[in-house]
Amino acid sequence: MKIGVLAAQGAFAEHIAVLQKLEVDAVPVRLPRELEGLDGLIIPGGESTTISKLITAYKLREVIKERAGKGLPIFGTCAGMILLAKHGINGYPETLKLMDITVSRNAFGRQKESFETDLKIPALGEKPFHAVFIRAPLIKSVGSGAEVLGKLGDGTIIAARESRLLVASFHPELTDDHRFHQYFLDIVAGKR
Ligand code: GLN
Repeated sequence: MKIGVLAAQGAFAEHIAVLQKLEVDAVPVRLPRELEGLDGLIIPGGESTTISKLITAYKLREVIKERAGKGLPIFGTCAGMILLAKHGINGYPETLKLMDITVSRNAFGRQKESFETDLKIPALGEKPFHAVFIRAPLIKSVGSGAEVLGKLGDGTIIAARESRLLVASFHPELTDDHRFHQYFLDIVAGKR
């Protein structure tokens, strides 16, 4: 299995490190031809406006959309989630418009701009998932084809899946719990 990590800006090195720990062939993606032969793609957190500009500059926009249309599984975390969304509010960058969710950028108040919390994510099993939120977006709503995977205590949606697209508001690559990445690999392998 070969997974690409969009290496424009943000936390791509951390995602590659997690994939290597899970013994997966992980490659940085900056050129359109680097998407060839991939079984899945991760779009990391960072700054969504910057990543969006670089996706255009690297001529990746159309190729990613085309591969996604043919079923390439994609996992977007934080800014990567914003980039997958079809709808958004709050100074929204040009996204790939692949997943039927509405996201809100920098949606948490100043005090809680960055925070960590234990989440119940039933798809990952009983044990709570320790999640790191950094100036995170939230999911306002999901379309009928999307499934909510996790919420904060106040009901805010922070993880979802639509077929082979997976998103999380937080940074699963920053902790030692690799269940979220394993879940994505299971989607790639057709086990989920
Ligand atoms: N605040 C960033 C944005 O709106 C996302 C933050 C992150 O990816 N950690 O693009």
